[in-house]
Amino acid sequence: KLPIEIGRWFNIPRENRICKLCTCNEIGDEFHYLFKCTDVYISNSRVRCLPKYFITNPNVVKFEKLFNVTNINQLTNICKLLDTIFERVSSLG
Ligand SMILES: [Zn+2]
Repeated sequence: KLPIEIGRWFNIPRENRICKLCTCNEIGDEFHYLFKCTDVYISNSRVRCLPKYFITNPNVVKFEKLFNVTNINQLTNICKLLDTIFERVSSLG
């Protein structure tokens, strides 16, 4: 349901697959929603669910580390954030 993916289905140029939940004018991909999107629900959930390390100056290295977390509590919290992202992105229809 992310703009980066839906845009692919409809042949929308990559640079036009923008997040419609915030005013960042960034491509709506996994990195944007996990780390950058300023949608109030997503950013509140991010602060609640991710360790500060991941929120401060996010980059590709941290993105990869997030996908390799094995701690069950951290995984549970990441799932909560993903749930919020899914809900918010789905709300756009
Ligand atoms: Zn956004």
